[in-house]
Amino acid sequence: MTILVSSSATKQQLRRIVETLKRSGWDPFVVNEPTTRIVGMNNSRSPLTAPPLEDLPGVEKVVHSSTQFPLASRECHPESTVVDVDGVKVGGQEFVVIAGPCAVENEDVLLETARLVRKGGAKILRGGAFKPRTSPYAFQGLGKQGLKLLARAREETGLKICTEVMDTADIGLVAEYADILQIGSRNMANYALLRKIGRTKKPVLLKRGMSAKVSEFLLAAEYVLSNGNPNVILCERGIVGFDVATRNILDLACVPVVKSLSHLPILIDPSHGTGYRQYIAPLSKAALAVGGDGLLIEVHPRPESAWCDGQQSMGTDQFATLMKELATLAVPLGRTIDV
Ligand code: PEP
Ligand code: MN
Repeated sequence: MTILVSSSATKQQLRRIVETLKRSGWDPFVVNEPTTRIVGMNNSRSPLTAPPLEDLPGVEKVVHSSTQFPLASRECHPESTVVDVDGVKVGGQEFVVIAGPCAVENEDVLLETARLVRKGGAKILRGGAFKPRTSPYAFQGLGKQGLKLLARAREETGLKICTEVMDTADIGLVAEYADILQIGSRNMANYALLRKIGRTKKPVLLKRGMSAKVSEFLLAAEYVLSNGNPNVILCERGIVGFDVATRNILDLACVPVVKSLSHLPILIDPSHGTGYRQYIAPLSKAALAVGGDGLLIEVHPRPESAWCDGQQSMGTDQFATLMKELATLAVPLGRTIDV
């Protein structure tokens, strides 16, 4: 169950609600952002009856629900969340596109990409400075130097920056430069990372683990939310399958499922989702049609010479054409794309 605490509640009233829950066998978790809520979890092996909390001073509303992820659930939070990325609203009427290279390579390529994706209609620039690579011998990213280049690209183009953080020790550093902290697929279940990012207020792009169920994906979001960071954007990036015709299986069916279960915005990544640039455009259109809130696309001015993931990166002209097609398609779907 989730207890919404009134904004005028005193510390004493809060303590009394917590104590009442404990006495009835419930485990209370207090979350202060964006408003104070107390999540009461039944972690005992037997069913519990909820104490009469509605009449306690300081209680505004009690939502009785057995969901495992009350903070991420639509049941406890019916209105859709819009995450504000320094002025760019993700989860509202606008279909927001994040574009850029898989990895930050050097200043020239990054700035060239940034200028062209902005011209095409992207609002946020992506680019990994810390790269989770399958091989320890593959390019691991430019680290801090890459973050500085991203900041330079933001300064020049006004694009917001989305970049991955892999290590709890780097959160402070990456947060100094990024507008969105990306949690990659491989780290979706890195609970230490989720907890620590949850203690920041930075918007988070949480990618679905490649073999994660929707419930595990939403529980990962719950880790961030329950640690006090309400700014979670989900990202479907494909799940493992048996067929090598595509790199992953882009699970577009999860979009309406997530929308019904959760109030959080969800983006779709057709680059990692398919592994091939020729499938990005059709799946981007499908992502818009199925109710996604935006896209994360790998774009490179010369994809054939990209340091990583060139095969699944669009060229900048191809990207601009796709954005125009998406803008037309968005109209009957009630979304806007500013190209
Ligand atoms: C990426 O976005 O570059 C990336 C590594 O994605 P994922 O975590 O989905 O594999
Ligand atoms: Mn990539």
